[in-house]
Amino acid sequence: MLDSEINFLAHDIQDFLGVKLGIKPCARLTMSIERFRILKKICDKHGIYCEYKEFDPKFGPSSKNDIMVYLSTHEGNIDKIYKADMAARLLDIGRLLGYPECCISFFGTFNNENDRSPFPLDISKRSRTCSFLINNLYNFDGNIRQKYSKKYELFSKKIGSIKRIRYITHIPCSYDCKESIRAAGVLRKEMKIECPELAARTDNILKGPVLYHNRFSWLTFEGKFRVRILKYNKVKKVGTLFPVSIREKIEKENEIRVYDKFLILGGNQKIKMKAKVIDFK
Ligand SMILES: [Zn+2]
Repeated sequence: MLDSEINFLAHDIQDFLGVKLGIKPCARLTMSIERFRILKKICDKHGIYCEYKEFDPKFGPSSKNDIMVYLSTHEGNIDKIYKADMAARLLDIGRLLGYPECCISFFGTFNNENDRSPFPLDISKRSRTCSFLINNLYNFDGNIRQKYSKKYELFSKKIGSIKRIRYITHIPCSYDCKESIRAAGVLRKEMKIECPELAARTDNILKGPVLYHNRFSWLTFEGKFRVRILKYNKVKKVGTLFPVSIREKIEKENEIRVYDKFLILGGNQKIKMKAKVIDFK
């Protein structure tokens, strides 16, 4: 691919490459009509069908001018996924977007029982180990947008270009889901060839222990976590809504002991905060 194409695709590249590599039968993206026109030219060149439909408000708040764009290497799939989307048929949508069956069923169950999407902490509780390849912290979905639109917008602004740093485009059923890890590995291999800088940046952001406070607020470290103790040499410069005053204290130390309702920094400073560590390796 040309550098200009990669630059244009930016964080739609995972969906584009996913379709091109056959990991995803289809991809669904939201964008302006102007962006669609350029994307269509790139897709034509690479043998990918690219069509747009009017944006459906049930997918959450969006810019007035946005449209829904579907990509696929099989023309017939676009009609299929559009119909499935309109009828909210989760299983068909998941399959057409190339999500593993285990993850579709996890999402379906969770969504029905709790009327909300599973969040990283829910997913980490189901995982023996957490693979950085399927870290989805920066992969925000429509449900969150709909339910917490103000906070989402603020968060979105804060994390800026880190938004949609990812190797999978779905919510994994666990952070050790084999199928998700396999798909992420295929995409990562291709990104290392096509856009090595973005792949290196993605690795760097997704890897490492995360001190997770809530869905908008966490810190990512260069360091190691064992039992309750997080030892680190650096707090990564990743903007989330984590309280600045606590972040500054953490940056001055190199160890945190993590308890259910509080943290102990550097051996003696007690901070009241509910947080858990998700250790992405
Ligand atoms: Zn799964």
